[in-house]
Formats: sequence, C-alpha cells, structure tokens
Amino acid sequence: MIRIEHIGIAVSNLEDAIQTWETLLNTTCYKREVVEAQKVDTAFFQVGESKIELLGAIAPDSVIATYIEKKGQGMHHVAYEVEDIRAEMIRLKEAGFQLLQDEPTSGADNKLVAFLHPKSSNGVLVELCQTKK
Ligand code: ZN
Repeated sequence: MIRIEHIGIAVSNLEDAIQTWETLLNTTCYKREVVEAQKVDTAFFQVGESKIELLGAIAPDSVIATYIEKKGQGMHHVAYEVEDIRAEMIRLKEAGFQLLQDEPTSGADNKLVAFLHPKSSNGVLVELCQTKK
C-alpha cells in the first residue's frame, strides 16, 4: 500500500463541520461531491500528503445516517491508496480478510474504492482506493 490517502469522518451537519475543519486545519475545503450510490455528501481537505474526508448523510437510510445513529459522529474509516485495487482485494481475501464487496465501486474524488469489514481489522473500517486512470 502506498500511503494513507484520507481519513473519513462522519458528521451530522456537513456545513457546520466544514467551517470547523477549515478553522482546525487552517485550509479551505477544496472539493464537495455527492456520492449518490452511498447517499452521502462529501467535503475534502488536503493535509500534507493525506486528506480529510467529511461525510454527511443526504438521506435517512444513508450508511452515514445509520453509522451516526449507532455510534455518533467521529472517525468512520481509514483509506489506503493502492496501486492495483483488484490485486489488493484478492491478496487480502486470500489472507482471510472479509471484504464488503466483490468488485470495486466508484467513490468520491475520482477513485475506485472497496471496503473491508471492520471485524477483520480490529474494529477499523478500511477503505482501499485507487485513482481512476
Ligand atoms: Zn473514504
């Protein structure tokens, strides 16, 4: 794996959270993007080599709405950039990790993404991401 690409944070009010994180990181949000498939609105911040991705629900049945209902706001996932997402998915599956999907899907910020079940990785939801070429 290449690096931590971003850390995803689940927030209940995206507009408020953007202001908070702009002040905290002393930088401006460089991208907003709705991912319809997951019913989330996202906001990205660059922090050195990595990013922070704020995730807000756009529907009551969004994965983020469900997450916040269960666990409250906070760190949602850690995303690792990989060279070849399909090869990594096969490698991890063979190593005994439980993947949440068989095929990568289209994520925010021009990425192919896939998630590992948190029970495979000590309670951390892991995202693999590969920049679309
Ligand atoms: Zn992410």
